[in-house]
This record gives sequence, C-alpha cells and structure tokens, in this order.
Amino acid sequence: MKLHTIETGNFKLDGGAMFGVVPKTIWQKLNPADENNLCNWAMRCLLIEDGNQLILVDNGIGNKQDAKFFSHYYLNGDANLEKSLAKAGFHKDDVTDVFLTHLHFDHCGGSIENNNNQLVPAFKNATYWSNAAHWQWATLPNAREKASFLKENILPIQESGQLKFIDAGKIDQPVTAPFHRDIQIIFADGHTDKMMLPQIQYKGHTVIFMADLLPSVAHIPLPYVMAYDMFPLTTLNEKKYFLEKATQENYTLFFEHDIQNECCTLTLTEKGIRQKDTFRLKDLE
Ligand SMILES: [Zn+2]
Repeated sequence: MKLHTIETGNFKLDGGAMFGVVPKTIWQKLNPADENNLCNWAMRCLLIEDGNQLILVDNGIGNKQDAKFFSHYYLNGDANLEKSLAKAGFHKDDVTDVFLTHLHFDHCGGSIENNNNQLVPAFKNATYWSNAAHWQWATLPNAREKASFLKENILPIQESGQLKFIDAGKIDQPVTAPFHRDIQIIFADGHTDKMMLPQIQYKGHTVIFMADLLPSVAHIPLPYVMAYDMFPLTTLNEKKYFLEKATQENYTLFFEHDIQNECCTLTLTEKGIRQKDTFRLKDLE
C-alpha cells in the first residue's frame, strides 16, 4: 500500500466560526485572521494506492459552482485535484473508490462535474461510498446545515448508480471498510450525522483521516469545537474518547484542513493531550 497526499487548494472561513467559544484574543495568536476575520484552510485529500485499487478520500470543493459562490471562500493556492492526482501518477479515471467522509461542499464538491450542462460523476469508473443515515441527513437537511449540503454535489451521485452505502458504526465501534480489509471506519456524530473517518494500517502505523472531527492541530485542546458542529457536546465527548485512544496507541493523525501541518502524533502534557511531532505524510517511515 502507498498513501499519497492530494492537495486540492485552500479556502477561507470565518475564524470565529472555526474556533467556536474560544475568544479571538486567544486563537488569533496561532491562527492570524485577515481583515475580514477569515482564516486560511487547506482542502487536503488522501489517495490510497494498493494493487489495482485506488481509493480517494474526499475531493475538495470542485469547480462547478458559480463565481458568486466561490467569492465567499477566497480560493487560493496552486494545487488542484487534477494536478495533484497527476503528480502522484494518476488520472481521475484510474480511481476505483471515492470515499466521502461527509457531504459538506468542501469535502465532496469534486465528486460531480459539469460536462456541457450535464452534472456527471467526475470519477466515472469509481464506486462512491457514503452511509444511509448521512445520505438521508444530507438530502433532507435542517435549516442550520442546509447551506453546506449542495444538491448538485449529492443527488447526481445517486442518479449515476455509482453510490454504495457502508453499514454505520460508532466512535468506539469501528467497521471494516467493505472495499479494503486494512481500513476501518470510525463514525462520529457531533459535526454532522454519521461522519466517517478512515483508519488505515500503513507501514506499521495507524493513520487516521481526521476530516472535521479535528480540522487542524489548533483544534486538539478540548474546548476548540467549531461553531459549525450540529452537536458540540457530542463532538466534545467524541474528541475526548478519540484523543485518549490515539495517544495510547500512538496514532498518526492526518489533517484535511490544517494549512501548515499535514500529520501529527499526540502526547499527554500537564495541560492535557497535545501534538507531539508534526510531519509530512511522505516522511512517515
Ligand atoms: Zn464538514
């Protein structure tokens, strides 16, 4: 097995929303905001290469929305999905599985592309993986979360016939991925209903794709829960459970949204659990 980092570009989100109840006087020291109070975030995906299988975990914001939509997010950086796949030696048509942690637009926007005014799967040879509970949650959204679930990212996946569901588990009851025996799926319900985090056995390490359970290293301290989360106290409990287990078992955390840090390990300090080493995925030995 080989893991490749797939950068799909950066975007900006309100710093206050990203750090929840933590005041700006504290978070801005490590995460400086621009004049509009926005902080810059990565949309970093993961490509798992194993034999004939090529599994893409999340796929960024995509390129089919209109200029007005994109104007809210200040896309920046040189990377995009196609270029990053090419750098790893692949094309979208080579991808066999697209694993969607959840259906927020910054995670699944690259799933569907606009081809001559037709919304079609960008990965025409891939199976797309979600779960039934999250699919229902996303297609019948509540008013608070509705702006994150864009119909054009979601419905054409099902219409294409390429969608499959994974049986849901819980944060402490991972499920083996139906598409790979060395990948377990952890489920978390605080950010959104039944978000899925892949846990991958790789070179003797356990690598976890953190998605929005821990968007960045800055979110490791327990009170740093995003205002975007639907159930913040559930996130708090899930973080506590996960961080203790990840520290004990020396997991490698892979961050989707941290602009500076790709991976870290954890350690227990007198202040609580914090990052130990930060490093690039390619430096994992
Ligand atoms: Zn999200």
